[in-house]
Amino acid sequence: MSENTENQKCAESSRLCETAGSIPVFDDVRAERKRQELKWGEQNHSPAEWLMILGEEVGEANQAALEAHFAGTHNPGNHTLKDYRKELIQVAAVAIAAVESLDRGLWGIK
Ligand SMILES: [Mg+2]
Repeated sequence: MSENTENQKCAESSRLCETAGSIPVFDDVRAERKRQELKWGEQNHSPAEWLMILGEEVGEANQAALEAHFAGTHNPGNHTLKDYRKELIQVAAVAIAAVESLDRGLWGIK
């Protein structure tokens, strides 16, 4: 497939193929990744540890979505869809951190 055809296909099916800087959500993920780096520094966890950390973040996204969904009914929590979005950004940033860690080659994969 030619590059032009590939780009056209990307443009039609997804915004992911656009320049990262032009998509606000990527800017949000980048900012979250930077915040994590400032807080924790370079992290080189094992793949299993990364999956536990990612799972914890996914759990927080679930909690926010659940509380937003049942807000005002039988839900004692107070999370909103804004919180859910924030948690999803954290999920994406943690996934990126896991890939960055893996790419440093400490686990035999380059
Ligand atoms: Mg979180």
